[in-house]
Amino acid sequence: MMVIDILTLFPEMFSGVLGHSILHKAAEKQAVQYNVVNFREFAANKHSSVDDYPYGGGAGMVLTPQPIFDAVAGLKQKAESKQPRVILLCPQGERYDQRKAEELAKEEHLIFICGHYEGYDERIREHVITDEISIGDYVLTGGELGAMVVIDSVVRLLPEVLGNQESHRKDSFSTGLLEHPHYTRPADFRGMKVPDVLLSGNHKLIEEWRNKEALRRTYVRRPDLLEKINLTPEQKKWLQEVKKEYS
Ligand code: SAM
Repeated sequence: MMVIDILTLFPEMFSGVLGHSILHKAAEKQAVQYNVVNFREFAANKHSSVDDYPYGGGAGMVLTPQPIFDAVAGLKQKAESKQPRVILLCPQGERYDQRKAEELAKEEHLIFICGHYEGYDERIREHVITDEISIGDYVLTGGELGAMVVIDSVVRLLPEVLGNQESHRKDSFSTGLLEHPHYTRPADFRGMKVPDVLLSGNHKLIEEWRNKEALRRTYVRRPDLLEKINLTPEQKKWLQEVKKEYS
């Protein structure tokens, strides 16, 4: 079972997300155990304060090292795995993607640190963490939403969490491409028809259509992804066909 510890100043923010849908079911199935900790509880000062003014002056408060150092040490001591990934949510971190989600899904123990205010004391970054993750090039108020994004994308990859294991193997990015379009009933909705091939019952042709549409979608929307993957000779041929349609 994967253990996910979350260090935050706003533990209530997690109850909605962890208490519903796949994340909740994953905990029920004992694929994962969540432990949301308010790191203010670790502050070793009279007022339980966790932030202070920045040396050198300037706007905003900075998270002090002591509560986070001690909270992480406590969690490591409690856990059976002595080598957890300690992940700092940070706009300056490595940009998060599906490859990273797959990497983290192989771990037994993840500790997330959600920042707030102006940022962290640099010694946290230097001495406590193993990974710094940014969920995009924009600045959030705190790391909580980022942690939720990462946790959701990791937990759905754990074995047994999704009913159909195939469903995430073909998701966008897992194959290196965007996923093909989907259709469901009715076959004719107000004159808008489902492509014939999907109604043909010919699984080989359907698979070929899906592969080609995934390539088309990626070529049109995210051509940068095509530069990062090795296409099979068949995919290369389909891509040439798709390119011709757009030239
Ligand atoms: N002053 C910091 C900077 O310019 O890099 C931004 C601090 S931000 C207001 C407060 C916290 O929100 C950060 O410490 C981090 O935990 C979280 N955060 C903000 N943007 C994020 C992003 N894009 N990805 C992940 N976490 C983010």
